[in-house]
Amino acid sequence: MASGVRVAVTLACIECKRRNYQSEKSKRNDPDRVEFRKYCRWCGTHTLHRETR
Ligand SMILES: [Zn+2]
Repeated sequence: MASGVRVAVTLACIECKRRNYQSEKSKRNDPDRVEFRKYCRWCGTHTLHRETR
Protein backbone atom coordinates (compact mmCIF):
# COMPACT_ATOMS: atom_id res chain seq x y z
CA MET A 1 0.00 0.00 0.00
CA ALA A 2 1.14 3.54 -0.67
CA SER A 3 2.23 5.92 2.04
CA GLY A 4 -1.33 7.06 2.65
CA VAL A 5 -3.10 10.29 2.13
CA ARG A 6 -0.92 13.29 1.45
CA VAL A 7 -2.33 16.71 2.13
CA ALA A 8 -1.09 20.16 1.22
CA VAL A 9 -0.01 22.33 4.12
CA THR A 10 1.10 25.92 4.46
CA LEU A 11 4.05 26.63 6.73
CA ALA A 12 4.13 29.98 8.48
CA CYS A 13 7.00 31.52 10.42
CA ILE A 14 6.05 31.69 14.07
CA GLU A 15 8.11 34.85 14.53
CA CYS A 16 6.66 37.11 11.84
CA LYS A 17 3.61 34.99 10.96
CA ARG A 18 4.34 35.19 7.27
CA ARG A 19 3.49 32.17 5.17
CA ASN A 20 6.72 31.18 3.54
CA TYR A 21 6.33 27.62 2.37
CA GLN A 22 3.84 25.36 0.72
CA SER A 23 4.48 21.72 1.40
CA GLU A 24 2.72 18.47 1.86
CA LYS A 25 2.74 15.85 4.53
CA SER A 26 1.47 12.38 5.19
CA LYS A 27 -1.64 12.36 7.25
CA ARG A 28 -0.60 9.00 8.56
CA ASN A 29 2.83 10.09 9.75
CA ASP A 30 1.74 13.53 10.90
CA PRO A 31 -1.87 13.54 12.00
CA ASP A 32 -1.32 16.73 13.99
CA ARG A 33 0.24 20.04 13.07
CA VAL A 34 3.82 19.79 11.92
CA GLU A 35 6.68 22.17 12.59
CA PHE A 36 9.90 22.60 10.66
CA ARG A 37 12.95 24.77 11.08
CA LYS A 38 13.31 26.69 7.84
CA TYR A 39 14.91 29.85 6.60
CA CYS A 40 12.65 32.87 6.83
CA ARG A 41 13.73 35.61 4.45
CA TRP A 42 11.73 38.15 6.40
CA CYS A 43 13.43 37.37 9.69
CA GLY A 44 16.74 36.75 7.92
CA THR A 45 17.41 33.57 9.84
CA HIS A 46 16.15 30.10 10.48
CA THR A 47 12.97 30.07 12.46
CA LEU A 48 10.35 27.55 13.37
CA HIS A 49 7.61 27.23 10.80
CA ARG A 50 4.29 25.76 11.76
CA GLU A 51 1.50 24.30 9.74
CA THR A 52 -1.35 26.72 9.35
CA ARG A 53 -4.64 26.94 7.49
ZN1 LIG B 1 9.78 35.14 9.92
